[in-house]
Amino acid sequence: MLLYNTLSGKKEELKKPTNRTLKIFVCGPTVYDYPHIGNFRTFVFFDSFVKYLRLNGWRVFYLQNITDVDDKIIKRANEEKISWRSISKKFEKIYHSDEKKLGISSVDKYARATDNIKEIIKQTKTLIAKGYAYEIENDGIYFDISKFKDYGKLSKRTYLDAEDSVSRIDDSLNKRNKGDFALWKFSKPDEPEWPTDLGAGRPGWHIEDTALSGKYLGEQYDIHGGGIDLKFPHHEAEIAQAEASSGKIPFVKIWMHPGHLNVSGKKMSKSLGNFITMENFLSEHEGNVFRFLVLSHAYRSPINYTEETVENSENALKSIRIFLEKLDFVAEKTKNKKSETEEINKITAASGARIKDVLEDDFNTPEAIGEIFKLMSALEGKIWNLTKKDSYSVKKSIVLPLASLGFYIKTDKIPLKIKRLSEKRELSRTNKQFVQADALRNKIKELGYSIDDTPLGCFVYKD
Ligand code: AMP
Repeated sequence: MLLYNTLSGKKEELKKPTNRTLKIFVCGPTVYDYPHIGNFRTFVFFDSFVKYLRLNGWRVFYLQNITDVDDKIIKRANEEKISWRSISKKFEKIYHSDEKKLGISSVDKYARATDNIKEIIKQTKTLIAKGYAYEIENDGIYFDISKFKDYGKLSKRTYLDAEDSVSRIDDSLNKRNKGDFALWKFSKPDEPEWPTDLGAGRPGWHIEDTALSGKYLGEQYDIHGGGIDLKFPHHEAEIAQAEASSGKIPFVKIWMHPGHLNVSGKKMSKSLGNFITMENFLSEHEGNVFRFLVLSHAYRSPINYTEETVENSENALKSIRIFLEKLDFVAEKTKNKKSETEEINKITAASGARIKDVLEDDFNTPEAIGEIFKLMSALEGKIWNLTKKDSYSVKKSIVLPLASLGFYIKTDKIPLKIKRLSEKRELSRTNKQFVQADALRNKIKELGYSIDDTPLGCFVYKD
C-alpha cells in the first residue's frame, strides 16, 4: 500500500508485516470540552483506515491516548470551581459516547496520560541523563531543542524558528531556547500534582504521547496520525523526545496528517459562533452521514463543512440504500434463477479492482466512493433484468467495500400499512381506476414512501 508520509513529503510503500502486527498511534482528544466535528474528522478517518486494513488481512494494533491533564482542563475546572478530574472524566465519557454513535470501534487501547506518570518520569530521566533536558529551578524540566540535531525535520524548521511552538505550560523566561518545551512542570497552587523523585508536578503535553507509545508500541513503530495542526510543535517534539531518548531512528515510519475541517470557509471557533459539537450534529443526523462527509473528501485536503455538504452526504447514502433495496426486491421477485451472467461479473470485478487500486494508493476514499456510484449508474438501466444470483453479487460488490470503510447501510423494512396501500393501488391500476390509483400513490407519498412501477411489480421505498 502507498501512503503519503509527511516526514519525507512523498508517497511510500507500506508492506503488510508477515510475522507481527502493524502498530498505529493516533493522538486522541484533550478532554476539556465537548468534542467537535473537526476532532471527529480525524478520528473517523483513522477508524475507516484501520477497518480497511483489518478487512484486508492486516493485523493491526491501534493505540490512542487521552490527554486528561492539561492547561485547558485545569483552567475550566478552576472557572467552574470543580475538580479537574470531574472535567476530564465527564468529557472522556462524552467522547466515547460520540464514538459509539459514529460506529468508531477500531481502537485497541485508550491510554490516559495520568495512568502513565511512571513512564513519563522514566523518559524524562533518560533525557536528563543523555544531556537533552535541563531543570529550571522552581519551574520545571525542559527539553533543549538545540541539542537535538534533527529538530525540525518533520515541519521543515530549525530550532531557531520554533518559538511559535510555545504554549502556556512551556512558557518560561529562563529557557535556553525560546522553543524549548516542558517535560515536567513543578507543582503550583490550584494545579494537579504527582509526587515523584524529580519533584512534585505534572507532565508536559508532548512527553505524554512518547511515554505511552514507548510502553505499548515500543521505541519504534509504523504509523503515527493526528490532525495537521499537530504536525508542529507536537509531533516535532515527539520525534525529538523519542529519538533522543532511544537513540533509534526513525521513531515512526509514516506520519499521516488528515487536513482540517472548517465551517463555511472559516476555522471553527467558539468566538465565531460556528463551533459544532459532535453531539449537536448527531442529534440531527446519523453517524453514517458524518462518515460519508469525511470520506468523500481527500483526507489530506481541508473539508469545508456547509449545510450543503451534509445534504449531499444524506442524499448519497439514500441513493445507495434505495439501490440495495432494489437489489433485494429483484432477488425476491425475479423468476430468473439462472446463475450470474458474464457481463455482470465483468462489471463488478472491474469495479472491485478499481476500488482496491485507489484505496491502496494513499487511501483515496473519494475515488473509491466514486467507483461505487459509477457501478450503480452502470447497472441502473439493467437492474430489473438481473438474475437472482446477479443481484446478490452486485449487492456484495457495493456492501463489502463500504463495510471495509466502516459503513453499515441499513435497508428499510416497508411497514404493513404501506404494503397494503400499495397492493390496493396496484389493484386499482389493474382495474384501470387511475384516479383512485393516483390518490393512493399520493397518500403513500404523504406517509413518506414512494413507488416505482417496474417490470417485476411495484417497488416501494422510503423517501
Ligand atoms: P484535541 O482534542 O484538541 O487534542 O484534538 C484531538 C484531535 O482532533 C487531534 O488529532 C487534532 O489534530 C484534531 N483536530 C482538532 N481540530 C480539528 C479540525 N478543525 N479539523 C480536523 N481535525 C481537528
